[in-house]
Amino acid sequence: MKTKITLLTALGTAAVLQPALSQKGQARPNIIYIMSDDHAYQAISAYGHQIGRMAPTPGIDRIAANGMRFNRCLVTNSISGPCRAVVLTGKYSHLNGFAKNEGQAPFDGSQQTFPKLLQEAGYSTAIIGKWHLGSDPTGFDHWEVLPGQGHYYNPDFINKNGRHTENGYVTELITDKSLKWISEVKSSGKPFMLMMHHKAPHREWQPGPRELTLYKNMKFPEPATLFDDYSGRGRAAHEQDMTISKTMRLEEDLKLYKDKGKMKTTGLNRMDAAQAEDWNKTYDPIIRAFYEAGLTGDELVRYKYQRYMQDYLACISAVDKSVGQLLDYLKANGLDKNTIVIYASDQGFYLGEHGWFDKRFMFEESYRTPLLIQWPGVVKGGSVNSDIVSNLDFAETILDMAGVKIPADMQGRSMVPVLMGKTPKDWRKEHYYHYYEYPAVHSVKRHYGISTERYKLMHFYYDIDEWELYDLKTDPMEMKNLYGDPAYAAIRGDLHERLEKLRVQFRDTDESLKSFLPAAK
Ligand code: CA
Repeated sequence: MKTKITLLTALGTAAVLQPALSQKGQARPNIIYIMSDDHAYQAISAYGHQIGRMAPTPGIDRIAANGMRFNRCLVTNSISGPCRAVVLTGKYSHLNGFAKNEGQAPFDGSQQTFPKLLQEAGYSTAIIGKWHLGSDPTGFDHWEVLPGQGHYYNPDFINKNGRHTENGYVTELITDKSLKWISEVKSSGKPFMLMMHHKAPHREWQPGPRELTLYKNMKFPEPATLFDDYSGRGRAAHEQDMTISKTMRLEEDLKLYKDKGKMKTTGLNRMDAAQAEDWNKTYDPIIRAFYEAGLTGDELVRYKYQRYMQDYLACISAVDKSVGQLLDYLKANGLDKNTIVIYASDQGFYLGEHGWFDKRFMFEESYRTPLLIQWPGVVKGGSVNSDIVSNLDFAETILDMAGVKIPADMQGRSMVPVLMGKTPKDWRKEHYYHYYEYPAVHSVKRHYGISTERYKLMHFYYDIDEWELYDLKTDPMEMKNLYGDPAYAAIRGDLHERLEKLRVQFRDTDESLKSFLPAAK
């Protein structure tokens, strides 16, 4: 704690007296926040999972080697736009006003966000890439974002001057634009903060020109729960619509186009002749072999899982190259020592666990996001942390890193002491979750809940009013709802009590819950 206070005092004083320099004569740190979309921690080699090891991410792993890897970074509402709004505001969805992707008013850009506060404190700020919040970005000196979900090939971008199309692959374009912006501001005398937001590896997982053939012959290990029948769990798991077997589409998702006219619906018709030629060279033989094989039943599910992994992981490889390129750029330009690099996804993702793809549920794979942070001279290289941290903490952490005062109404907590290896004794022991988007695509019922290190209590309210309780120690795959088990009565009571306290703490009352939601069908 003592070290923390010293550092923060130094940085805080610097913010007041000398906009660009701390007392020690060191410049205030630049901060680069890289966020990918739907990147599962299982698919990062630094996390040690089998999938990640087979499809390694050497670029992202450099951040782990230089800094800290977080094993339990939990999101407050596991879906794109809402996660982005939480990161910007440091507030839960019911307070920042952006709770769902669909049927949602645009993000209110007039509210307090951390980029605005950094801008006021003398930082150059930019966001490049996926935004997904409906309104124009605010708080950024420079912004260039994808409309909505954006496209992989020859995407449109929106900036202050309007909308235009660019030739290239989205991950590479976002990287080039990011490095260009850094090159323009690096000598300005002001520190900078860049949010570099990749579209990849979001559905429909379209690999880039450099990665088309990377994994096309690779066979990945199947998760133990690929053929989960959801026995032992409630209606929410039974009634979702996000399975590889039923929901995942052969043509649009797995590129097994019988009808190439359908490529239009996923933007693949945007490819130019050369891009299309490379694409067809890769996929035509795959398509032919698939339809000749005539797979059905479990064999078809197994095949779909492999196809999914091959494309998803190829998309990640481009993101990983982007990270490597950025780290190389920082080093080559003498920026590496004074630039903090954060890597996260907007949320986690299912790689076939429970037979699923997509996210939304409070089950571990989509509840957890990867998080890796390097901060030269402050964070010990190769360190690993398993405290419960959250995307709710990102705004406050970044403000603290910059020595900017944290507003009292933000709801997370600065992770700076955690990064220094000195987790405060009163650090959170439980985390509050709330997902709102239903009825909607993938049919995941609305739920809120609490997770501790070991237990998880979920309430699928409104639509079905069912409770579920999981013991992550005895059941890490979350296969058995223990809510009605008498052996867990005391634990259940304790979790209920703590959940109610969290709802009060975060001002998510019955009233806010009701006022926020449209009635179920
Ligand atoms: Ca996402």
